Formats: sequence, C-alpha cells, structure tokens
Amino acid sequence: MVNQERLVAEFLELVQVDSESKNEAEIAKLLKEKLTALGLEVTEDETKAQTGLGSGNLIARLKGSVQTADPILFSCHFDTVTPGNGVKPVINGDLIETDKTTILGADDKAGIAALLEGIRLLKEENVAHGDVEFVLTAGEEIGLIGATAVDKKALNAKYGFALDSGGSVGEIIVASPDHAKIKANVHGIAAHAGVAPEEGVSAIEIAAKAITNMPLGRLDEELTANIGMINGGLRTNIVCDLVTLTGEARAITFSKLENQMKVMSEALEKAAVERGCTVDIDVSYERVGYTLKETDPVVQVAKTAIEQIGRTPDLCATGGGSDANIFTLAGIPTANLGVGYLDIHSKEEKMPISELVKLSELVVEIVKVVAVK
Ligand code: ZN
Ligand code: CA
Repeated sequence: MVNQERLVAEFLELVQVDSESKNEAEIAKLLKEKLTALGLEVTEDETKAQTGLGSGNLIARLKGSVQTADPILFSCHFDTVTPGNGVKPVINGDLIETDKTTILGADDKAGIAALLEGIRLLKEENVAHGDVEFVLTAGEEIGLIGATAVDKKALNAKYGFALDSGGSVGEIIVASPDHAKIKANVHGIAAHAGVAPEEGVSAIEIAAKAITNMPLGRLDEELTANIGMINGGLRTNIVCDLVTLTGEARAITFSKLENQMKVMSEALEKAAVERGCTVDIDVSYERVGYTLKETDPVVQVAKTAIEQIGRTPDLCATGGGSDANIFTLAGIPTANLGVGYLDIHSKEEKMPISELVKLSELVVEIVKVVAVK
C-alpha cells in the first residue's frame, strides 16, 4: 500500500530543490542518490555539454525477474518553469500549494515522486516484474531538449509511459499534434503621415485586415491556430511600410494543418492585393505529433492498469507536446498519462495528495500488468 506520509514528504523535498531549466545539477544529483539507494543502476548520460543544460538525463534500470515481460520505460522531467526558485510548499487539506510567489513544480516532480514511491512498493511487496527503465530528463520545459538528446538506441523498452500530463489520473494522451509555423512580411508603402498620407499604404492596416479574416483560436477539437507575434512601424508620422507577423497552427491530422496554412496565407495575400501591395510568406511544418491506437500494447496496458486502480480510462488528445512525443517518434510508443496536477506554469499550481497517491498506485499496477500480460 502507498505510504502517503513518505510520499508527501518526498514530494515536498523534491519541490524545494531549485531546478529551473538549465539549473538541473542539484536535483539530478539528489535523484541519482535516491535511485541508487533504491538499488537501481543509475547513469547520467553525457549530453550536458551538447545541450547546455545543467545536467544530463538520468537513466535508471530496475532489473526484473520475469523474462517474458515486455521491457518498459517510465519518463518524467526534473526541470521546472520559472519562477521556480525557493518554492515554499503549503499543505491545504488535500492540496499542496505554494505561498503564491513561485510555481510548485508538481510539473513534473509529482510524476517523479510517484515513480520513487512505486519503486519502493515493488520492492516492499515483492512484486514479480520485468525490466523497467526510468528516463528522467532535463530541459523539457524549454523545448524537450533533454529527451531529444537521449540515446534511444541505448534504451531497451518496447513501449513507455510518461507521467506528465494534466487531467486526473486515468487520462491517457493518445494523440499529440503536428505543428506548422507561418511567418509573413507584409509590405506597404511609406509616406509622411501628415504631409502625404495618400501616397502611402499602411502595412499595419493590411495586416489587421488579414488577421481579422483569419480563423484563429480553437477551430475544431483537434485544430488550433494563433498569431503570436506582430512587429512593425517606426514612428507615428510615418505610414508603416513593413509588418512582420508570426503564427502557428497545430492539428492531429496533417491535411488540416496544410489547409489552415492555406487559409491564413490567402487572407494575407487578399488583404495585400486589395491595397496594391505584396506579402511574402514562409510556411514550415514540424512533424512532431503522434497517434497511438487503442489496440497498441501501451494503451492496452495503461487502460487495464487504470481500471485496476479503480479509475476510468479516458483516452484523449492534447494540443501540447511532451517527452512522450520524442520517445514515440524514436520508435518507443509512449503514452503520456494524467498526473492530476492543477494550474501548472503559474503561481496557482497545486497538487492534490489523493492524485499523488493514485499515481503511485498506477505506476505499480502498470508494472504488474506488463508482468502477467
Ligand atoms: Zn511537464
Ligand atoms: Ca510543463
């Protein structure tokens, strides 16, 4: 059974170690010690010089005795967003919060605490299991940098589970979107705004009209689009002749992404042509998404384990990306699982203790399901 007191104490310990992205050395050292003390073979990979992060990634191996069990991995990241230094956790009923001056860092230390508790339980309860790898990464929050650098060929896992998603314990992220970026330079014609405005065409007006005509925001259940940056103009007395705008779209289905880029480009071209001007547009795609099938072993295992801890599996898509994308694209299908953390990336971040307990149970249950599968 989960030792709630021990689990909470360890979670509190972890969140009080400063570990904003690029400052991971101290937390990596602590986790290495903890995993070693639990009897795992732990190595820090040699990616630190290449990534410029505060540490490499930690790869810990728990040897199993069940030879027929699929080797699996669990992954979490140990870096946090800012402001993440000097976290002072406060327990408020079932919730662990902060003093509201920093984030909490339950993203993703709740996952790590659950893994550590899970390993202890496997040992205490003498659970028969197969080989399990724990891949704890640095630099996730600044672009999945640690996970990207991990040598996937050195991993034995057939499939994996990332503990790093919002939503309650029971949620399984089975799809994550591909990305597209659009960058446009809208060219107007400069003129003195007071002396000869009729000789100018404002690139700002063209851009405004184009953006007004673009479908943006959440466009359907899997398609989103956003103009995130707009730059232009020099002075109030000059009709602006250049505006640069940069945006993105995300979709699980790639053709929707191509269509959205076409719609956004056409809105820009139409608005420019109407004013006798031009726009140059640069569109690029990143195929970073993945879709896991319900019949995939990784999803089957997650579903069964979630049912066995008394929760209802909820298969859903996300608009974001995580280390799960990186492992899946590298050939180790990895489902990102709901951790139960709330309001992450804000000073309101909190972690329900009940979810932390459930997540630890889930770790043990996944290992058990794989062992008897
Ligand atoms: Zn995270
Ligand atoms: Ca995050």
